[in-house]
Amino acid sequence: MTALFISDLHLDADRPAGIRHFLRFARQETHDASCLYILGDLFEVWVGDDDTDPAHAPVIESLKDLKRRGIPCFFLHGNRDFLIGKRFAAATGCELLAEWTIVDMHGQRLLLTHGDLLCSDDEAYMALRAIVRDPEWQRDFLAKPIEERRRIAGELRARSRTETASKPAEIMDVNQGTVEARMRELGTRVLLHGHTHRPKVHEFSLDGEAATRIVLGAWHEGGSVVRWDRDGFRLEMLER
Ligand code: MN
Repeated sequence: MTALFISDLHLDADRPAGIRHFLRFARQETHDASCLYILGDLFEVWVGDDDTDPAHAPVIESLKDLKRRGIPCFFLHGNRDFLIGKRFAAATGCELLAEWTIVDMHGQRLLLTHGDLLCSDDEAYMALRAIVRDPEWQRDFLAKPIEERRRIAGELRARSRTETASKPAEIMDVNQGTVEARMRELGTRVLLHGHTHRPKVHEFSLDGEAATRIVLGAWHEGGSVVRWDRDGFRLEMLER
């Protein structure tokens, strides 16, 4: 039995091919799966569980179908879909995970996170994150009409795009010190995340022990999946 890990699908009504790609994955790549972990940014934007965007329906249906087939799904928030809440969890059967989650993979303590918290050199983003993750800000935001929420989300994305374009590439990647501090603190030597869209397996030494950081890729370019069974993990690129 194999645990599957994916992230950064950025599903969006404007890109139906991306949605079809995920639906095909959920049907065809999961026959020997024991569970599916989605490590954030499943959706390009999520303005609240009460948004009835018809493009979301087949995705929700497909997650429900996995659950029906006995494949539990776990979801960890990304920076695009951090407003996914209890109603989504109930509709899909997905269990929502904390932003730092330890799972046991065949005896290995594996740390899961979306990845944005590891990019600690990006101070402008961290400041914005602190605002939008504040429960009070979220309550106010979710009380606004859907159209207004979409407009605000669009503005935030446009601002982030402008800022991203002017940031040096290394600021947009993880800070190795932050990676090591979190792994040390949480007592793990293996970390799996997405967000940076730089799929790769990084090996390094942490306090004299071998450590691994696995990065999932984004689905704009085809996507990637980590398959983890009793023989260990494989980071695989997906064909579109
Ligand atoms: Mn992200």
